[in-house]
Amino acid sequence: MKIKSSYHVHSNFCDGKDSLEEMAEAAVLKNFTHLGFSSHAPVPQNRDAAMDINSFETYKNQVLQLKEKYKNKLNIFLSLECDCYEDIGMVQEVPIGELDYYIMSIHSLGVGKDKRAIDYTTEEFAELIKLSGDDIKDVVKRYYNLLLAQSLKNKPDIIGHIDIIKKNNINSKYFNEKDNWYLDIVDNYLKEIKKIGCVVEVNTGGVARYGVHCLYPSDEILHMIKDYDIPLMLNSDAHTKENLDFYYDEALKKIKNKGINKLYYLTYDGWDNYKI
Ligand SMILES: [Zn+2]
Ligand SMILES: [Zn+2]
Repeated sequence: MKIKSSYHVHSNFCDGKDSLEEMAEAAVLKNFTHLGFSSHAPVPQNRDAAMDINSFETYKNQVLQLKEKYKNKLNIFLSLECDCYEDIGMVQEVPIGELDYYIMSIHSLGVGKDKRAIDYTTEEFAELIKLSGDDIKDVVKRYYNLLLAQSLKNKPDIIGHIDIIKKNNINSKYFNEKDNWYLDIVDNYLKEIKKIGCVVEVNTGGVARYGVHCLYPSDEILHMIKDYDIPLMLNSDAHTKENLDFYYDEALKKIKNKGINKLYYLTYDGWDNYKI
């Protein structure tokens, strides 16, 4: 069986555009074999992009119904993308144990009125740097420190868009992603998560929305992932049905060119991998 999958998929339960069923139907038409729904998990203070806490039961039931309805065409999984914050750590508003797996991600840094998104507008990212004493290194360090601490604490199944901190670093505006200080921070992070066994995703969602600079992870990090032999998977972080496999051919080529010849995917019996 030729595997085609995405375990990072949004819907209109969060900031996605299409319904769960529209996403599933599109996945079948695009010859997907595995599809994991991972809406943004409910957060304590309501965030526009996140699922409302009162919607979780409906979301869960709809995913389970689709799992049954599509069982001969598509393997469907129930998941959430769980946010981490510097003050409270990873959100725990829904019982993680009810999910087939979950993705852990960071989308913002700072606390209270000083909280700013890292993956939204360039203006907001500039404010975050200003609030961090105009010190981009400090912002980068805070990002990876939070990611590391929460990875060690929660041992998530999948790390979401590992280097999203670069999203607004267009044309190396704030730092050079090839500099040793930066790669050393990432190297230290990868070394630790290798021990825990988290799966890292190649995430094409940023490319779909913001261009090739936003392929996560960067070439350099992909190289390090290969050297550490960290399990890697391909996800689209799709917010629309059209983008379910956006940039997949190009990303696969890139992964293969790095000398990586297998990708991980989840089955109903646990993790497995396939040759690419
Ligand atoms: Zn995300
Ligand atoms: Zn996402």
